[in-house]
Amino acid sequence: MYTKVLNLAQQLINIPSISPKDLGCQEILIQRLQSYGFFIEKMNFNDTNNFWAWRGSGKSITFLGHTDVVPAGNLLNWTTPPFISTVKNGVLFGRGAVDMKGSIAAMLIAVENFLNKNPNHHGRISFLITSDEESTGKNGIKKVSAILKKRNERINYCLVGEPTSEKVLGDCIKNGRRGSLSAELKIYGKQGHVAYPNLAHNPIHCSALFLVELSNLSFDKGNDFFEPTKIQISKIFSGKNYTTNMIPGELNVFFNIRFNPLVDEKVIINIINKLLIKHSLQHSISWKYYAKPFLSVPNNLCHILMTSIYNNTRITPVIKTNGGTSDGRFLFNLSDEIVEFGLLSSTIHQTNECVNVLDLLQLQNIYYDVLNALFL
Ligand SMILES: [Zn+2]
Repeated sequence: MYTKVLNLAQQLINIPSISPKDLGCQEILIQRLQSYGFFIEKMNFNDTNNFWAWRGSGKSITFLGHTDVVPAGNLLNWTTPPFISTVKNGVLFGRGAVDMKGSIAAMLIAVENFLNKNPNHHGRISFLITSDEESTGKNGIKKVSAILKKRNERINYCLVGEPTSEKVLGDCIKNGRRGSLSAELKIYGKQGHVAYPNLAHNPIHCSALFLVELSNLSFDKGNDFFEPTKIQISKIFSGKNYTTNMIPGELNVFFNIRFNPLVDEKVIINIINKLLIKHSLQHSISWKYYAKPFLSVPNNLCHILMTSIYNNTRITPVIKTNGGTSDGRFLFNLSDEIVEFGLLSSTIHQTNECVNVLDLLQLQNIYYDVLNALFL
């Protein structure tokens, strides 16, 4: 019963499409979709392959996914070769099994099965697939969505196949993601001998209180969908030499803020600048704005998805916005509603990434039920 979805997942895993390379994964999908009457528009930019495929008209659902994967990591820790898919005791192993070749296979087979039964369905079914979700993403959905936006393309429902489930398939779906902002801060002092502190100015000492306050900053209290905005210091170093008798001339501090839509990046930057001034720190700071937060208020798609999940698993999912960013943010302005739902996230990006084959089948059935509910 599950051979189709398993075969397709295996076929995709066997292609080592390390981000942003696609290496032919999308061609497999394109050929299958073409045989079902989909119009295909390839939108490749530099090293990244993307395609937009659609059939039908009227109310629309878009399945959003990526064919790239992260590298295998330490090969010695893999019990099966990462790019030769292997099924052991009902579990499929291989890089991308969960994130997200498995769910791409589930989407595609769900759509094929739906079209086999309902060739004259209502509505428009579409796929938007990229080969760069895992690296910079600069030539992926970001660029494609800008083109679609220019054309006034409108998506009613967007279903993202990222692995949102936590302990069992269906226990969690996502309706938004936090934003991400990073900073590289340099605090300047005066280099000198540790035995002559009066001739130097120690940037570590003068930033200690600042760092405590920085790590405890509170920006908002969160809301029903988002946890409070959080800051994490990820790296601190002072100079590249290993001597221990030197007061360093500068201190480098890296930190990242995962923020919800209750604050915006300007407010965050302003609060941190004020803290730097309060502590009279001589400094320079550069900011990198990685992602905007988004929230899609639960509506029709969310309810249909929750019902389909419950009917297949007897589980009522919780709705969350935690975890990293996703490509969903680029479709936020094009879509009436975005929901993310996919396989278990417990092995993503790890060695021995794997998925229970029955979960693949269940995910396929859930996606199928969503199509049934929307377009029959
Ligand atoms: Zn992913």
